[in-house]
Amino acid sequence: MPALPDRVALITGAGSGIGRATALLFAQEGATVVAADKIGERAEETARLVTEDGGRAIGVTADVSVAADVTAMVEAAVGSFGRVDVLVNNAGLSVGDTILDFDEAAWDLNLDVVLKSVYLCSRAVLPGMLERKRGAICNISSVNGIFAVGESAYAAAKAGMISLTANMANHFGKDGVRVNCVAPGTIRTPIWSERLKKDPNVFDTLKVWYPLGRVGEPEDVANACLFLCSDAAAWITGVTLPVDGGLTTGNFRMNTALQGDDA
Ligand code: NAP
Repeated sequence: MPALPDRVALITGAGSGIGRATALLFAQEGATVVAADKIGERAEETARLVTEDGGRAIGVTADVSVAADVTAMVEAAVGSFGRVDVLVNNAGLSVGDTILDFDEAAWDLNLDVVLKSVYLCSRAVLPGMLERKRGAICNISSVNGIFAVGESAYAAAKAGMISLTANMANHFGKDGVRVNCVAPGTIRTPIWSERLKKDPNVFDTLKVWYPLGRVGEPEDVANACLFLCSDAAAWITGVTLPVDGGLTTGNFRMNTALQGDDA
């Protein structure tokens, strides 16, 4: 039995990385997919990959930080498939590190693409979900939204997603709509391409911080989204699930430093 039978799933930022992996997995699990991305060719490419894999999908061009684009994106989904049952708010970017590193425009860009987009996209699909008394929304936050690991504006926006998740879950649960969040650690996707140019071994450098001994793959996040959007999670709403190889459990380095080699 597939996990998402007869569901129409709209995935933002689906032209790359986690979004593309989620689109492919959701389609394999029975969903009809609307793959949206700022770059239309990438959205179309994801839709083509889904179709080649035996699934049903369309690609849609949309900048999720622009209200008119979001309205057109949801209209395209509803026009093609009649409704949206599942929304994955995945599109994202990160600009700057400490608050002295970036200007006001960069702050706004982080907040608009990461956080305002969740408001815009959720607001656009919720009326239909509430009418049908069925819907699932999964927001892709980050471990940066849970504890301080840099990228201040991005982190603030990702923390905001966690709060918005809990509020939406509380507001709309009684009407059959569940809203959950995943908080990935380091995932091997193109979002790391600039960092990889500076340090081709960055994933090996980072993996020592992960109790499970590796960085994540896009499919690790897609699997968590699939569970949270499926009926297997029918009594789960408002949670933020770290998908982080144990990173946010902490680490023993302070203890090791205190106790020396005996630790
Ligand atoms: P990715 O491969 O760069 O994919 C993100 C996609 O979103 C790209 O196609 C990107 O297009 C698109 N996008 C950016 N701004 C957009 C906008 N305004 N409207 C529509 N689409 C837009 O990165 P990813 O790693 O899969 O990231 C997916 C999500 O996971 C993001 O929210 C990210 O913050 C989160 N995340 C990633 C990691 C990680 O280590 N990879 C860790 C924690 C959380 P462009 O390439 O043109 O920008």
